[in-house]
Amino acid sequence: MVDKKENKMDKIVSLCKRRGFIFQGSEIYGGFAGFWDYGPYGLALKNNIKNLWWQIFVEEREDIYGMDTSVIMNPRAWEASGHVAGFADQMDNGNKFNVMFKTSVGAGEESIVSYLRPETAGGMFVNFKNIMDSLSPKIPFGLAQVGKAFRNEIAPRDFVFRSREFEQMEVEYFVKPADWEKYFEEWKKIISMWCKIIGLEKSHTHELEVLDKERAHYSKRTIDFEFDYPFGRKELYGLAYRTDFDLKSHSSFSNADLYYYDEETKEKFIPHIIEPSLGVDRTILAVLSEAYKEDEMNEEKRIYLALKPILAPIKVAVFPLLKNKPQLVKKAREIYEDLKKKFKAVEFDDNGNIGKRYRKQDEIGTPFCVTVDFDTLEKDKKVTVRDRDSGKQERIDIDKLITYLSEKISL
Ligand code: ATP
Repeated sequence: MVDKKENKMDKIVSLCKRRGFIFQGSEIYGGFAGFWDYGPYGLALKNNIKNLWWQIFVEEREDIYGMDTSVIMNPRAWEASGHVAGFADQMDNGNKFNVMFKTSVGAGEESIVSYLRPETAGGMFVNFKNIMDSLSPKIPFGLAQVGKAFRNEIAPRDFVFRSREFEQMEVEYFVKPADWEKYFEEWKKIISMWCKIIGLEKSHTHELEVLDKERAHYSKRTIDFEFDYPFGRKELYGLAYRTDFDLKSHSSFSNADLYYYDEETKEKFIPHIIEPSLGVDRTILAVLSEAYKEDEMNEEKRIYLALKPILAPIKVAVFPLLKNKPQLVKKAREIYEDLKKKFKAVEFDDNGNIGKRYRKQDEIGTPFCVTVDFDTLEKDKKVTVRDRDSGKQERIDIDKLITYLSEKISL
């Protein structure tokens, strides 16, 4: 149990720094509000989340196509989307402040003002015609992209929850106008399923119907998926019904034909869009908040991250019991090489005593530690496998180690 709730956030931030997950951006210059740098384990966790999302939302489906579009677009696209006029936050004095980052493109008098994208969606809308012409997908279908988005947030706060540079995983799902409710419901279920897969407790996630006056300018219905973060219940993901707003508007601003022609019914119409929008960094923070645990083991306090093995930055760590015994080190390295071929995210550690090595692996959420000792060499050709959450140790035949770990890691 984490004793002081209000402290949990500080503890997570401190673990992230201590263990190389997430650092304050430009820290040696005093930091830079709203910007964060991911270290090796944070990057591994982030990649595992993005890869799992890509697998489930794109690769395992027939109807969704991946894209990777540019961060900076022709500024007309942001006029059409309504962001130039309306993507604003209220400041204290009542003035509105547009949170899009401006940048200039080109040199001298030729330069023009454009923006860093505040959401990845726009790049997919402006390619609707290219996708129709090159792939001719049948409706319903989706475009998906994972990438950076930038918002000049007035008050960045709560670690990576509200930053000025972050990543999104978005699907733009194109449907017939009459079908939107059906697919909205479908995507609602998919998002709930995703939350379960990444290890968020059902009781910690909540669906909030966003009221008319609080919805974004393009949306006719929005559900916010909220999560109980240590600092309170806050938006984790959004699911929006964007109607035909985007394609219609891009069509009129660009004069491009952004209609869909249904060969069966001979109808021509502008598709409507359902958009599940998932923030990568808010996912990381939710996953870390859920996984952060404190308990007592062998009469010592310990901290561990009970991450799902599929998300854990390191799947297995291999230790020789003692560093100064060459035969133990040799055998441990052999096992490490074998496991690394299979699981890739495997670490060899012979630093300090065994307790210290366990503490480190617990804090980075490594589900299994394998130790080579004298019995391994002299007696039984077995190694000790320690389970992160229970601390239980089992002796496993070296020959059966890969099978044993594969089964557990795939859960
Ligand atoms: P909020 O109300 O918290 O500002 P929003 O409603 O503006 O969020 P959306 O425009 O719906 O957010 O963006 C979709 C998703 O992108 C959010 O659900 C969140 O996961 C992520 N996101 C948005 N803004 C940020 C930010 N400043 N930092 C990190 N992630 C963000």
